[in-house]
Amino acid sequence: MTIANNKIVTIHYKLVDAQSGDLIESSKDRPAMAYLHGANNLIPGLEKALEGKKVGDEFEVTIAPEDAYGEHSENGVHKVPLEELKDLEKIEVGMVLTAQTENGPANLQVTEVSETEVTVDANHPLAGKTLIFSVSVEAVRDASAEELEHGHAHGPEGHHH
Ligand SMILES: [Zn+2]
Repeated sequence: MTIANNKIVTIHYKLVDAQSGDLIESSKDRPAMAYLHGANNLIPGLEKALEGKKVGDEFEVTIAPEDAYGEHSENGVHKVPLEELKDLEKIEVGMVLTAQTENGPANLQVTEVSETEVTVDANHPLAGKTLIFSVSVEAVRDASAEELEHGHAHGPEGHHH
């Protein structure tokens, strides 16, 4: 069975930052990831690379930011007076703060801390990065009617999230 729309596909993957060569994420030590193909469950570049592959296939794909998590936007970068964050016990680079916005909660990553202000970034942490995925296809099956209706994969016990 080859990967096409409306198939539930299970993959193992390793994700590396193309520029630094750093390992960002690996599914090696956890259960393989199942997703519904053609439902935008994955970043576009990875879903496109998986199209037509079959069980046992292993491949590597380099994905530009526009087909991954988008370009980094300066509009997402804000400077906040340290005074406004004085309720926080500590604040340091790399921390993720949750802010309430008109569009619901937003994750802001702290990218810089000075004596007077804190720079936070609302971009996805992987925005602007070219990514290299090493993928192995573990399983491919037809999606159930319920999975198609929900637009995502269910686990063996009808797992839900
Ligand atoms: Zn569901």
